Amino acid sequence: LVRMEGLHKSYGAVKVLQGLDIEMKRGDRVVVIGPSGGGKSTLLRVLMGLEKVDAGNISFGGRPYITVRNGKTVIDTEVRRSIGMVFQHYTLFPHLSVLQNLVLAPCKVNGEGTASAKARAQALLDRFGLGARAGAYPAQLSGGQKQRVAIARALMLDPKLMLFDEVTSALDPELVAEVEQVMLELAAQAMPMVIVTHDMWFARNIASRVIFCAGGVVVEDGPPEQVLGKPIHERTREFINRVF
Ligand code: ATP
Ligand code: MG
Repeated sequence: LVRMEGLHKSYGAVKVLQGLDIEMKRGDRVVVIGPSGGGKSTLLRVLMGLEKVDAGNISFGGRPYITVRNGKTVIDTEVRRSIGMVFQHYTLFPHLSVLQNLVLAPCKVNGEGTASAKARAQALLDRFGLGARAGAYPAQLSGGQKQRVAIARALMLDPKLMLFDEVTSALDPELVAEVEQVMLELAAQAMPMVIVTHDMWFARNIASRVIFCAGGVVVEDGPPEQVLGKPIHERTREFINRVF
């Protein structure tokens, strides 16, 4: 589904990605773990087409998605539209209701009719246990509800890949489970995902693969039982011992 090759990215003198190679098969749920500042968010932002790269390329579904030509990053915007992303801090539009947040992009970007978009939005909200909150504004929701709305909003555009960057890190502990539940439900429907999380319990539950990134490269890549349970590399072992 996705092939990332030789990704390099620096911010000034700070080398963040230093030759990153990751291949994702259809139906893979990849959890990316690694030390703070190791480039996990940068990787997701690159994959979402939000960040330029210095070198390397990404293909999606066998077609070129991101390439570097004459030092310029070239992004296929049609491919980019098929990827959805949810961030740590809710990025809902505060002046729009939940329902309006969901129908905005499908209507404006895809030219979908309002009635059809509203029906799909309501069905998604019902599925995520938010049916009664369609008319509420983001400020009236709990953190967990906001994140579930953010996920529903991304799903409105029928993504072929979903990216999650520490979507539960800013939540009170009792609200984490309701967001993780929604993600597990997507996993059960074989949605391809790349997830950055510090929650190792959740990582073990949702991942088909775990990738340990440090120093801008993939240090270890394998099934969750291996990378989280019996890591091969010393650096992975040190990290796992510290976070568990
Ligand atoms: P965390 O676990 O703390 O979220 P991370 O693995 O997501 O860390 P990144 O946010 O990708 O790490 O950051 C990698 C490095 O790049 C850090 O040293 C950070 O300071 C730097 N960096 C990230 N974004 C920028 C930016 N916009 N401008 C300059 N430096 C940046
Ligand atoms: Mg980060």
